[in-house]
Amino acid sequence: MHYHMEIWFREYPKDVDKAAEKALKRYAKEGGKDQFLDYYTIGGRWSGAHTPGEYNPTKDPANLETCHYCNGTGNREDLPDAYKPNDYKGKPWCNACQGTGQTVRHNRRRYEGDIMSVDHVSPNLTCATLVIVKAGSRARVINEGSVGLTSEGMSVLDALQEANIKGGWLVTADYHS
Ligand SMILES: [Zn+2]
Repeated sequence: MHYHMEIWFREYPKDVDKAAEKALKRYAKEGGKDQFLDYYTIGGRWSGAHTPGEYNPTKDPANLETCHYCNGTGNREDLPDAYKPNDYKGKPWCNACQGTGQTVRHNRRRYEGDIMSVDHVSPNLTCATLVIVKAGSRARVINEGSVGLTSEGMSVLDALQEANIKGGWLVTADYHS
């Protein structure tokens, strides 16, 4: 499953990939005792979570590519009608792109809103897992895995407050566990 992670840094992470790598290394180490993820990326499926209604990574033209299943036609000519949903029999249909001819590429562009000062983060922001990066590579993980802050009725700002943290920066990430 993919989960929404927010990573808190005290300072603005100039090189966010490096900073995240450093912070998450022990949690991503295969077979390591602290491992709880096997993949992560900055933004990913949750890109735009800091700016709801403003940015949708699946609508960003930079993230779209021609659908490989229908070659961009919106119709899978390789599939006979028998495989199509009833409403689409005899009509163009592609289950990969829903007929748009475009799909979202795996490597999405970096969205600048995914790195945001805590002062500008909405009190409604929630996530599954919050990683608080202390000095150097030391990090504290709140709610790893599927439980999620949301189901605890907590926002990211609530969780930071509970951890006595003020200011800093939040980075949206997507991880697989
Ligand atoms: Zn298609």
